[in-house]
Parts: sequence; structure tokens; C-alpha cells
Amino acid sequence: MDNKASDNLQDLQYFGEYGGVNPSISDSSTYTFLSAKTMFDTFEGNTEGCYLYTRHSSPSNLYLGEALAALEGTETANVTASGMGAISAVIMQLCDAGDHIVSSRTIYGGTYALMKNFLKKFNINTSFVDITSIESVEKTITPKTKMIYCESVSNPLLEIADIKALSVVANKYGIPLVVDNTFSPLSISPAKLGAEIVIHSLTKFINGTSDCVAGVVCGTKDFCLALKDVHDGAGMLLGSTLDSLRAASILKNMRTLHIRMKKHSENAQYLAQNFEKDGLRVVYPGLKSHNGHEKIKTLMNHEYGFGGLMTIDVGSLEKANELMELMQKEKLGYLAVSLGFYKTLFSAPGSSTSSEIPIEEQKEMGLSDGLIRFSIGLDNDIHRTYEHMRKCMVKLNILTSEASMV
Ligand code: PLP
Repeated sequence: MDNKASDNLQDLQYFGEYGGVNPSISDSSTYTFLSAKTMFDTFEGNTEGCYLYTRHSSPSNLYLGEALAALEGTETANVTASGMGAISAVIMQLCDAGDHIVSSRTIYGGTYALMKNFLKKFNINTSFVDITSIESVEKTITPKTKMIYCESVSNPLLEIADIKALSVVANKYGIPLVVDNTFSPLSISPAKLGAEIVIHSLTKFINGTSDCVAGVVCGTKDFCLALKDVHDGAGMLLGSTLDSLRAASILKNMRTLHIRMKKHSENAQYLAQNFEKDGLRVVYPGLKSHNGHEKIKTLMNHEYGFGGLMTIDVGSLEKANELMELMQKEKLGYLAVSLGFYKTLFSAPGSSTSSEIPIEEQKEMGLSDGLIRFSIGLDNDIHRTYEHMRKCMVKLNILTSEASMV
């Protein structure tokens, strides 16, 4: 697929207040007006380019939003204080009490808990479906359904959502397809494939330095303005506003996103192929053995590869814990949740990021105890990393020294 996202980002050019190459950071929570009339008009959303109060918008947040809209190819974007801030605002904007959501059953545990538990307070109900079965998605839609929700590459099972096919179903029923693209920035462009709203946790690859939480909603001008509406906008009223200082630092980190994504993918592909050859149960969308491999090839922007996430099932939680502790001791990465850092991060999702999902449901969706999720880092010599990880696995009897699974 023709991808212009990196070019769009490259072409953004700013002149700061003093001609700086980075935009100046807006260090104010409130803004002055020369006339009271302009203040009233700004309150009513009628004056572009005027700032009122930072929870509504700020120059730094608008700059970052502009870059994210360029990344996803949407009209505009609103940045938020976290990925969950983006997800909750979108849901609360689109759904009234009594409404219904059709969601993929393999999604980030926090999103799952929000839909399954928290939204019950508002009588908003979610049906969790196998997102790879377009038929079951369509069958689950009711007259009360207000959105189809999925992750392009799911957390943690790395299932691939057929965004093109899902958007056809969404259009047929006149509802938006909302896609969380946190795992695959640049490599998948959901809006270009038909999604109406694209969400990211910027906390992950887009920021890439694991030093803050942030999120974004990319969509139409109408929807993003509605989120900011002072009377009934979920973004404005629920208050998950990103701090301007953080917005400025994330914007600077975004400039290396294309280089980082290529390296994350290259390294993950190398490890996945080699550990699969060694006989381990590896899941990675870039492997032929992945059940969504052919599908993702039809959806992705090939130059960025198949992403930085892979899973390995080492058989039991006990073994998974032993291996993660040893790898951390050997400085191969961190036993930590989250993803998109320069060092490899690993965690056992069943007991961490997906622990909100009841055990029986974890089993049903194929989330086993011994599953380790790896967010592969930017290691310069990935062969060296592979040899080192393999040594850890041999030491724990996960592999024999001839490198085949015990
Ligand atoms: N979406 C996905 C796919 C995630 O993995 C996460 C967090 O792990 C989130 C959303 C939530 O993002 P945040 O932690 O920035 O609120």
C-alpha cells in the first residue's frame, strides 16, 4: 500500500515564537482576550485560532494533534492525557445509556474492563466477539449498537483485524468502526482502510521513551470538535487533557518514529524466526505460521515491517517468571508492562496487562499461563541478543543446547 504518513510528518515545519525549529511550548492554563465579545465567541467554539483554557485546547496540544492527524491521514486529532482517556472519551461521546458496543474479545485488559464492568453503570453493554470472524461481528450488531471496536493488532494475542472488511460492515449499519492502532503505528493506517476513528496510546511506540502516558483520538473535524464542546463534549467534560510540556516532548520523539518502527520490526522478525526454528511456540504476524499473516500483508505498509511485538509460550507461568527474571538479570531487557521502549520489555499478560479478563475467558481466547509478551527493543546487534536469550532458555531447560525445545 502506498504510504505517505512519514512524508506528511517530515513535511510539517514550524517556526517557534523566536524562530526556533521547534514550536514554542505554551506554558499557560488560561488565555487573555482583548475583547469580551471574542471570549464569548471562543466559548461557543466560533473563533478558530483563539485559545480559552488549556483543558479545551492549547497550542502545544494542537501541534501534536496536527502531527498525529498527518500520521493517520485523518482530518484532525485531539490529544489526551492517556490512551484510556482517549478510549473512554470516544465511548462516552458515541454511546448513551442503554446503547451497545460490538468489540473484539482480544483487546487491552483495561479497555476490556472499562467495557465489561465500568460501562455497566450507564447500562452500556458490550458483546465481545472473535474479530477475525466478520460473520459473527455482523450477527452481533443490534439496533442499539453504536460502534464496532477493535485493535488493529490485538493485545496480547496479536490477532489481525481485517479493517477493510469490518469497515464495510460498519458502513452497512451506519455505525463507526473505532480502531486502536497502538501496536502498529505507521505499519497499519486504519483510517485509510476505512476506520472512522483511530485511537492510540501514545505512551507506547509513538512516544517511545517510556517516560509519560498520553493518548490521541484521530477523526473528522466534526467528531473532534464535538469532543471539545464546552456543553457536552466528553473530552472537555471528563477532563483527560494532556499537559502542554508533555505534548511538546512527544512531538519531538515522533520525528524518529519511522526509524524506530523499522528497527523494532526487523529485530522482532529476526528473533521470531529463529526461536520458531528452535521449536518454540512463537506468535508473530511476520511468521508464515501466524493465522493472520496473509491478511496483514494485504493491510500493511510494508516498509515498516510486522511490528515490534511477539509472544512466546514457555509452557507455564512458573517457567515464564523464571525466564523473565533471568533475562532481566542478564540485562536483556526489563520485566515490565508497556511497549515501544528502546530496551526489550517482557511480561506475562495473563497475570498482568490482561488480568482483568477472567481466567475462563482467557483460556477460551487462547491466552495461556506460560505466554510471555515481548516488546522487542532497538538492539543494534540482534544476533547477539538472540544468542544471549537462547542461553537463558537453555539454562532453564526451555531449550536444549542444540536449540530445540525440550
Ligand atoms: N490500548 C492498548 C492496545 C494498550 O496496550 C494500552 C495500554 O497498555 C492502552 C490502550 C491504554 O493506554 P494508556 O496506558 O496510555 O492509558
